[in-house]
Amino acid sequence: MTSNPQRWAVVGGGILGMTLALRLAQRGKDVTLFEGAPHFGGLASAWQLGDITWDRHYHVTLLSDSHLRALLAELGLEGDMQWRVTRTGFFTGGRLYSMSDALEFLRFPPLGLVGKLRLGMTILYASRLTDWKKLERIPVGEWLEMLSGRATFRQIWLPLLRSKLGENYTRVSAAFIWATIQRLYAARRSGIKREMFGYLPGGYARILGALVERLEGAGVRLRPGMTAESVEGLPGGGIEIRFPGGAPERFDQVVVTAPTPVAATICRGLEEDEASRMRGVEYQGIVCASLLLRHKLSDFYVTNITDSGLPFTGVIEMTALVDPGQFGGRALVYLPRYVSRDDPMFAMPDEEVRELFLRGLERMHPALCREDVLHFGISRVKNVFALPTLDFSRRLPPMTTSVPGLHVVNSAHIVNGTLNVNETIRLAQDAAGRIT
Ligand SMILES: Cc1cc2nc3c(=O)[nH]c(=O)nc-3n(C[C@H](O)[C@H](O)[C@H](O)COP(=O)(O)OP(=O)(O)OC[C@H]3O[C@@H](n4cnc5c(N)ncnc54)[C@H](O)[C@@H]3O)c2cc1C
Repeated sequence: MTSNPQRWAVVGGGILGMTLALRLAQRGKDVTLFEGAPHFGGLASAWQLGDITWDRHYHVTLLSDSHLRALLAELGLEGDMQWRVTRTGFFTGGRLYSMSDALEFLRFPPLGLVGKLRLGMTILYASRLTDWKKLERIPVGEWLEMLSGRATFRQIWLPLLRSKLGENYTRVSAAFIWATIQRLYAARRSGIKREMFGYLPGGYARILGALVERLEGAGVRLRPGMTAESVEGLPGGGIEIRFPGGAPERFDQVVVTAPTPVAATICRGLEEDEASRMRGVEYQGIVCASLLLRHKLSDFYVTNITDSGLPFTGVIEMTALVDPGQFGGRALVYLPRYVSRDDPMFAMPDEEVRELFLRGLERMHPALCREDVLHFGISRVKNVFALPTLDFSRRLPPMTTSVPGLHVVNSAHIVNGTLNVNETIRLAQDAAGRIT
């Protein structure tokens, strides 16, 4: 520790901001962490669903998530992780199929043998490619259609792309699907034979609780409930953060980890080129329902949906991974719908979303009774992940701005990966090294 450490502020207390604050403090900086919400954790935070506390959005850890697992080990939690091989379903042509191993893939009725071969070859080819920058210039739809053929593209890839990107898929590059496939193959690349999914009993509430304790232990000042309204360089040096109804605070260095559209609004004094690069980063949002059910629906952790007309874009059955004892013997199911930031569903009353989603779920699982739905919660977030549009990495604003001492680091900087906690921790640690 230096005798007069630099005063640093981190704005945004999601996993990125928390990890960054910890690493800065461990490098001897005097760190304050501001979070707008009353609790830390952002997208990974937990909420209450009836009498259970679990993640607001479904979260799973992969055996190959080395950065996350190292952090969990540092927090003394890694040994409690529970690992399972999970199964995957496909809802297509009004029927639910298992697609959990090679044999089931070969039996999968909606595709002919040639289609299956081309699909398999596409995935294998993408898993072996290393030059992702070239893919940033090719629209994802064009690339997949070229590799898999028109029929397979229409039957499998297109519904899957739409489920995550909506109509924005037309502007997204092939690097997106490459990164997704790379994550699925990460286990094999790291020498693990079969990928397994894991969770920590107690969920992210426990991980975040331990992280908060570690931050306090490292001397980080934690300031939840503090939404930064503006972040501005001062003429004599240093950065000032203003909060609605509160006194401004001054720091030597500030790192904003909020999503780019928020950073573009609160950071003042940026050069026009930086500001326009920031405005050019578009985000995809989510409306995600959590259901606590009396009984499980299926044995699939993820059910991909290729049929049109369902109001959600997948079904995630947490109890296919997590011991139902964590939920009092009941089943926890998530129904995500990835949407554009201006989607009408953000303004739709909860009751309407509930009715729409339950009707969709009844279409997939006709045996489901309304009395079996014990609790229904809806999370809406406008800025979930930056759309990896064509040439994304070349147009991305750098982490350090032209305002001396002001840095903007957020998940948009995960340029050759997908949005997940492991990549987020890796980014935080890289950024801590780079900006100090
Ligand atoms: C539906 C869903 C499923 C997911 N599933 C998985 C999974 O299975 N496995 C996995 O590893 N990852 C998963 N993720 C991804 C994971 O949640 C993210 O990678 C991670 O939480 C991102 O953290 P972050 O800190 O970058 O962003 P965020 O969590 O968005 O944090 C940003 C923080 O900044 C705060 N903030 C914003 N503006 C201000 C302001 N002006 N002043 C102060 N604070 C501000 C926000 O309140 C927020 O807390 C999932 C995400 C979603 C949405």
